[in-house]
Amino acid sequence: MQKRKIIVAGAGLGGLAAACCLMKAGHDVEIYEQAPQLGEIGAGIQVSANSQHVLRYLGLGPYIDEVGVRPGAYVFRLHDTGEIIQRFSLAEEHEKINGAPYTQLHRADFHEILAAKARELKPDVVHLNKKATHYVERDDGVELHFTDGTFARADLLVGSDGLKSVVRNQMHGDSHPVYTGDAAWRLLIPTDRLPPGMLEEVMSVFMGPGGHVVCYYLRGGSVLNFVGLVEKEEASEESWTMKFPWEKLKEDFVGWHPIIQTIIDTCDRDACYRWSLFQREPLMDWSTKRVTLLGDACHPTLPYLAQGAAMAVEDGAVLTRALAMSDDLAEGLQIYQRNRIDRTAKIVRQSSANRTLFHLNTEAEIRAAFSKRDEGADRNKWLYSYNPLTVELV
Ligand SMILES: Cc1cc2nc3c(=O)[nH]c(=O)nc-3n(C[C@H](O)[C@H](O)[C@H](O)COP(=O)(O)OP(=O)(O)OC[C@H]3O[C@@H](n4cnc5c(N)ncnc54)[C@H](O)[C@@H]3O)c2cc1C
Repeated sequence: MQKRKIIVAGAGLGGLAAACCLMKAGHDVEIYEQAPQLGEIGAGIQVSANSQHVLRYLGLGPYIDEVGVRPGAYVFRLHDTGEIIQRFSLAEEHEKINGAPYTQLHRADFHEILAAKARELKPDVVHLNKKATHYVERDDGVELHFTDGTFARADLLVGSDGLKSVVRNQMHGDSHPVYTGDAAWRLLIPTDRLPPGMLEEVMSVFMGPGGHVVCYYLRGGSVLNFVGLVEKEEASEESWTMKFPWEKLKEDFVGWHPIIQTIIDTCDRDACYRWSLFQREPLMDWSTKRVTLLGDACHPTLPYLAQGAAMAVEDGAVLTRALAMSDDLAEGLQIYQRNRIDRTAKIVRQSSANRTLFHLNTEAEIRAAFSKRDEGADRNKWLYSYNPLTVELV
């Protein structure tokens, strides 16, 4: 296998995981990140078996187990009465069926674990304050240029620069985001402020007319993560750090179950974040001869299957394997995208379809929809059972 010099643009969860896989395979990697320091926002993230295979292969299992929570089940409930409509086991069953656990993490912990691994493999791998503007691709190499006037040179550029990727925009033009009509509230609540035992240690989804709420625990159960999706005619910014007045949050969940009211009444009133969700069509081609994409840069998704970061982690592992299959770089990139496009497009489409399922207008419609589906069996069949380290590459 040819060892390459590789530039990774963007040190998010996807870029860091890919860099770790590529370095472990012997490539010489440099990561360029626009931010002045590494970090992630205060929110939760669910990490299912399909991405855990890669994290465990990188030796990160013990760190993930230490800071994560393994939920007992996935539970779908009605928004007002709280009645359980469907439940599937996540704990031992998820691991038994899919070969790795399901863990809920604080995003900052997850990011820190990946960044520490990347720096263990190469201490000076991350370059901060490096905002990429464009790339220049030539027959013998590729350059990534930055706002400070400098540039880096390598054999391969991996654009893992997220939703508003400049690498993707240069390759394909703007991604034409379309507002979905949903806004997402994001809260973190210390559990010791909540009534003991108020909510089981499970992944809870409350479904109501025009909205749904996802709640789960982080950091050994000491923090509760709340994401509340509501339909809004007007789009605001696609920003994870925009605060909105607590009163608006309260207004959006009038009539919802007392558990939801308690969470809203208990949260820090000056730390209610809300952002608008936009949808983009998945790309069907994301590589040139020396440039490729991964994660949100090429298949941004709605969060309704909790798989955006999981796909990004899968991408890094498959990219690394694909590069090992051919000494021709362009061919390696084609193997990578050929083996990722169908799966990622399916996840993106299924996530969008879940918006309809989670926002049905009446209890009768919810009951009818769930009576026809076994969500756990379905996901175990095609989603969680995928192993990017062993899946056959064609
Ligand atoms: C509400 C919500 C809940 C979610 N829950 C889950 C979940 O439970 N499980 C899951 O798997 N996924 C989840 N996701 C999706 C997941 O967060 C994303 O898919 C994932 O973070 C994408 O990772 P990424 O590395 O591709 O992009 P990002 O995390 O966006 O990282 C991109 C990086 O590139 C940097 N960058 C950007 N532009 C430049 C530039 N020009 N030059 C240099 N650097 C640049 C950025 O600063 C950033 O560090 C959720 C998303 C949302 C909105």
